[in-house]
Amino acid sequence: MSEHARPLSPAHPPRSAWPWLPFALLVALLLATLYPSVAPAHTQIASTRLWPAKEYTRVTLEAASSIRYTVFSVPSPHRLVLDLEGVEPSPHLDALASKVTPEDPYVKAIRVGRFKPTVLRVVFDLKGEARAEVFALAPVGSYGHRLVLDIHPLKPIDPLMALVQQTEHQREAPGAAIETPEVDAEGARVVPISIDRSAAVPPRPSAAPAAQRPIVIVIDAGHGGEDPGAIGPLGTYEKEVTLAIARKLRELVNAEAGMRAILTRDDDYFVALGARVQKARRVQADLFVSIHADAFIRPHARGSSVFALSERGATSAAAQWLAKRENEADLIGGINLDVRDPYLKQTLLDLSQTATINDSLKLGRAVLSEIGEINTLHKNAVEQAGFAVLKAPDIPSILVETAFITNPYEERRLRDDAYQGKLASAVLAGVKRYLAANPPLARAPRIAQNAKSQQPR
Ligand SMILES: [Zn+2]
Repeated sequence: MSEHARPLSPAHPPRSAWPWLPFALLVALLLATLYPSVAPAHTQIASTRLWPAKEYTRVTLEAASSIRYTVFSVPSPHRLVLDLEGVEPSPHLDALASKVTPEDPYVKAIRVGRFKPTVLRVVFDLKGEARAEVFALAPVGSYGHRLVLDIHPLKPIDPLMALVQQTEHQREAPGAAIETPEVDAEGARVVPISIDRSAAVPPRPSAAPAAQRPIVIVIDAGHGGEDPGAIGPLGTYEKEVTLAIARKLRELVNAEAGMRAILTRDDDYFVALGARVQKARRVQADLFVSIHADAFIRPHARGSSVFALSERGATSAAAQWLAKRENEADLIGGINLDVRDPYLKQTLLDLSQTATINDSLKLGRAVLSEIGEINTLHKNAVEQAGFAVLKAPDIPSILVETAFITNPYEERRLRDDAYQGKLASAVLAGVKRYLAANPPLARAPRIAQNAKSQQPR
């Protein structure tokens, strides 16, 4: 064995290995950067929900940890691309595609696929150009981390125009709706939807003076969408009961001469409390009635109650607790905190609000006494607390807790179609009694300014 061929002496290993160590580290680092697939995906989607509505369509992804994402839109055809980082493929996510219905006003289809080793891509094929709002929600109630994608029309749906069109529609030809195929951006036939032709008909001159506008009652079906409200022992959702009663009340109001009802939501989707107030103000409502169903930890709690806004404090601890619970609707339903809401932040009330609250109390008493004819009253007087949904400064507003959904007997009644009708009739009777004693006199012709000569009948 020659001197040169001799293996390295064990005394010198550090010297020969040393130059390789930083190189190996560098390569490992480089590999990790180039191929992040080495890092495992951690986020598991536990649930997905889709809430299509005329006003906007919401998509909710829920997970045990926060969801990292990027979002962008692609034109022709219009698509929204949501890239989820570090999210594992899941049947819940795949199921989202099957939740799209042809009736969805904005979403045509949803596709889910792996875009990069650690990125899942969710593509929303849209029916037209839309505006997307994406935001994360921290865990609240029974919900974990939520990622919310709201798809809005470029031009918001105007409830006032809806009222005007509805009124005109009834004058033109009752029930005249035609089936028209909707055509998408590429001119391809997508899905037939019912188009109200009267919407395109120019207003017909009317002999009615503009000042005789109908009395506009805004009916607010509590909760909706991500926010179920209280849940009864039989699994009844407050949001479903409130919508059913609100629709019945609308029917009754619209059957009255000179009265017109508008719902703050006419479907199962979330509407923020401030947005409900804004809708009522935009249509210059004369009255605002919010429909709810009460809940309590003890199942024997029962009876109806009516609430108005308070100037400061609440009339009882129970009323304060209830207002706090009802105001949590925004957190549970999922409000984008980046969007300013003037009504929720409104803390100081002015003089006009004091007058409005007095009217709200009168309205509340009239409604409470009518409801007392069909159900036990939880409290014999109208109570007051800081309900966010009652904060329109110029519209008498009440919140009706129709009955306790947590009481098995009252839950059964709340589910009953005939009883829902009785409740709606009682509310209308109260409204009419209030209006008879407090006619909306000396008002400027308000809706008439926007929709001259569009009076009903
Ligand atoms: Zn409620």
